[in-house]
Amino acid sequence: MWTHRHLLGIEPLSADDIDTVLDRAETWHALSRKTEKKVRLLHGRTVISLFFEASTRTRTSFEAAGKRLGADVVNVSSSGSSVSKGESLLDTAKNLEAMRADVLIVRHAASGAASFLAERMQASVVNAGDGAHEHPTQALLDAFTIRRSKGRLSGLIVAICGDIAHSRVARSNAILLGKKGAEVRLTAPRTMLPAHAETLSPAVRVMPRFEDAVHDADVVMMLRIQNERLAGAMMSTTREYSRTYGLGPAMLAKAKPDAIVMHPGPINRGVELDPRVADGNRSVILDQVEAGVAVRMAVLDLLLTGGNHSPSDAPLPRPSRPSLP
Ligand code: ASP
Repeated sequence: MWTHRHLLGIEPLSADDIDTVLDRAETWHALSRKTEKKVRLLHGRTVISLFFEASTRTRTSFEAAGKRLGADVVNVSSSGSSVSKGESLLDTAKNLEAMRADVLIVRHAASGAASFLAERMQASVVNAGDGAHEHPTQALLDAFTIRRSKGRLSGLIVAICGDIAHSRVARSNAILLGKKGAEVRLTAPRTMLPAHAETLSPAVRVMPRFEDAVHDADVVMMLRIQNERLAGAMMSTTREYSRTYGLGPAMLAKAKPDAIVMHPGPINRGVELDPRVADGNRSVILDQVEAGVAVRMAVLDLLLTGGNHSPSDAPLPRPSRPSLP
């Protein structure tokens, strides 16, 4: 049912693979809402995360995901590791693999970093974001959130707005939503639109005017300006940007009345998102965060077991109470 050894991007996945992840994530989403949210499924397995770029949600949720499935999870970041002494990506990864890691979760500023390692490692490699290329688990958790809210992906209009040129989130989402039959509208100042955005998927339409993209949309997904990829130089001023491309209540009113608002985080409040919208009743931003744990559980589960088990297998036994003498 699941044949991939690595998760390097959305590009290599079929529409059925995407459904497999989302369906399996439903099980883990339900488990995560229980008081006792842990099973033994990956007991004895070792998951190592190796992050060369900052992260709050992705890293924490992979850690929570691995632990909820019973795996041992070890986190390594570039600062504080020998990477800061000049060790290469491959040497670092090979050393972690020598500790018998079963899965290596990698975030790196270079596009292709995860694929580069996957070609040279025995362990499964998960791409947790490689430069401006792909962020597959983000797109999967976004799809999970949309599907839960709208009941489907196919036929929806999804407007993705902001720094498309530097966004791995936009790329992975455009590819996934295209595979699942949604219409994807990309909107941004011209300097933040990649040259051939339409080639991402036949589902993509580039709409330079924000309001055209938002008109009648079912989903409005806002993006942060990727200053670490020098995107700040591509706009006049933050004030001007937020006036033309920031999502406030008036612009949101142009979308469908039940449209949802998404953001992968971290939000720059007052820049791409008006706080009234970020915290309003159409925002599903924290639902996305919750979905992130379930989807990452599904990914670890499928990579390590192939999904060939009843998902609720092997709950952790309750600690037995010591018997009174
Ligand atoms: N957290 C997402 C990423 O790592 C989005 C962002 O940083 O703006 O790509």
